[in-house]
This record gives sequence, C-alpha cells and structure tokens, in this order.
Amino acid sequence: MSRFCKNCEKEISEDVFMLHEAHCERFLCKCPECGEAVPKSFKDQHIQDVHPKEKCPFCYDLIEKSKLEAHKLVCDSKPRPCEHCGAIMEISQMIDHEDACGNRTEQCDICQKFITLKAMPEHIFQCMENLDKPNSNAKKRKPNEDAKAPRKRMKRNKNDWD
Ligand SMILES: [Zn+2]
Ligand SMILES: [Zn+2]
Ligand SMILES: [Zn+2]
Ligand SMILES: [Zn+2]
Ligand SMILES: [Zn+2]
Repeated sequence: MSRFCKNCEKEISEDVFMLHEAHCERFLCKCPECGEAVPKSFKDQHIQDVHPKEKCPFCYDLIEKSKLEAHKLVCDSKPRPCEHCGAIMEISQMIDHEDACGNRTEQCDICQKFITLKAMPEHIFQCMENLDKPNSNAKKRKPNEDAKAPRKRMKRNKNDWD
C-alpha cells in the first residue's frame, strides 16, 4: 500500500507516510518550473542551476534558457524587416516607420509613373496586365518605329538603375 503525498507528488509507502509527510512539508517544496520536490533551502539554487533564465533580447522578459530559442521565434517584440524597404528595426519603431516608408514614392519600372510603395505591389500587378493587353498605339506605329522603340526603352531603364 502506498499513499500520495500532495507536497512532493510522489507515491509514498503507507508505513512511512506519516513520517514522510511531516518531513516533506517541513523541508521540501515543489519547484515551480519542473514540479520536482526540492529541499526548501535548496530551491533557489535548484532554479538557478536547473532552470537558468536569460533575458530575451527583444522583449526583455526573463525566459528559461532552454526555452529561449523557441521563444525568440514567436516573440512579439522580435524585429522584422520593413515590408517596403527591408530595413530591420525594433517593433516599436517599425509601426511609425512602415507608415512613413509606405508613403514614399518610387518610379514604376514599367510605366515610369511615381507610385507609393504601399500601392506598388498592386500597381505592378495591374501595370503588367495592361502590358499584356494589345496596345492601340503600337498598332498604329510604322514598322521602323517599332524597331527603335524597345531599344530606347531599355536605355532609359538602364540609367534609372544606375
Ligand atoms: Zn512528500
Ligand atoms: Zn525545477
Ligand atoms: Zn521575447
Ligand atoms: Zn521601410
Ligand atoms: Zn506602372
């Protein structure tokens, strides 16, 4: 026969249970991290040794060392690149930055119009669709003009990239 000691969560044999319980409650306590029964006087030491904590570099929370890597992956304060320019900064700065950054304009490579970065992905998608459509101007062009046009366009683009 054995009985369950609530203090250390162990099965203790009936004949030593009374002894154990008195001793257990007095000297042992459960580790809040792993649930192991550890001597009360040794608890702080146990937590330091077995469950050392380290500051998360992003949110500054104290995280158990063995769980820190996993925490870093899901940490809400983890820096991420700006979706417009790719700059990496702290999340607190990112909200303001991304707003300002998205309102910057850049020239569309295809139609040469200035488009805000926020609207750029959508714009490029539409711009490319327009390119695929038969261009009424191109139809009217004489054959020798058609031959020149693409070369001109390439030159202009090249300068833009430099
Ligand atoms: Zn016990
Ligand atoms: Zn523990
Ligand atoms: Zn964190
Ligand atoms: Zn940015
Ligand atoms: Zn465009």
